[in-house]
Amino acid sequence: MWPDGSCCARRVLGRRGLCASGSAALVASVATPGGGARGGARGGARGAAGGALAGVGPVELAMSLAGVPPGPPTVALTLDACPGGFDARVAQALAELRIPATIFVTAIWLRRNPEGLAFLRDRPDLFAIANHGERHVPAVLGSGTIFGIPVAGTLDRIRREVEGGAEAVLAATGSRPGWYRTATGFYSVEAIPAIEALGVRVCGYSLAADLGASLPAPAVAARIAAARSGDIILGHINQPNRPSGAGIAAGVARLAARGARFVRLDEDVSVTQPTR
Ligand SMILES: [Zn+2]
Repeated sequence: MWPDGSCCARRVLGRRGLCASGSAALVASVATPGGGARGGARGGARGAAGGALAGVGPVELAMSLAGVPPGPPTVALTLDACPGGFDARVAQALAELRIPATIFVTAIWLRRNPEGLAFLRDRPDLFAIANHGERHVPAVLGSGTIFGIPVAGTLDRIRREVEGGAEAVLAATGSRPGWYRTATGFYSVEAIPAIEALGVRVCGYSLAADLGASLPAPAVAARIAAARSGDIILGHINQPNRPSGAGIAAGVARLAARGARFVRLDEDVSVTQPTR
């Protein structure tokens, strides 16, 4: 795992294939590491369907809301709490603006940030707690690293990562999380049904707002402010000492000023899981 707690979607990657859900309710695509730049602010390809995934390398799932109503944008704000700290700038901005969000936490983060957990739990009307794994290990088979993090390697190890994270969330909140997102955002295709078999919904994203909390605040704010309806926005809430968190706070304020409607993933939103 990363000692500084930074992680997910550090860079935007090109798409390799597409994952069809069999339903118009999901827009999903996949990308492989090193697959080339995905232009602009978007986090993943959209709108296409079909394509066999067997045999491809680790993939990102570009997942969007669907069935969103016309008019002002409907988006889901999702924030990863990898290892690291608690970015009160982000949390306080969301609380003040009354913007709901889904927070993907690791067991490591929960242990290290009791004050952050207390803040989130104090506003159950705003914050849903989801599973970012036990030890922040990418759900990827084989060997090697992604963004410097050793991959899980085996399905058993992936299951332990998912279940360990879920148990930590259950212990911390009293509720078992319904959603899981892998560390770094990458999955082995073969891992996805194994995770789903645990009764967990596998999450991706469509707009990487801060690229692993690596972007300057104005860039983060601009990316979020320009969100399109249906976006599942990915940011981070574990890097209080980086500029990007201020950008998330500013960006969601600008997006809210556009009249955006923010939904949580634990609501009955029109998002389905990739199927193969
Ligand atoms: Zn992470």
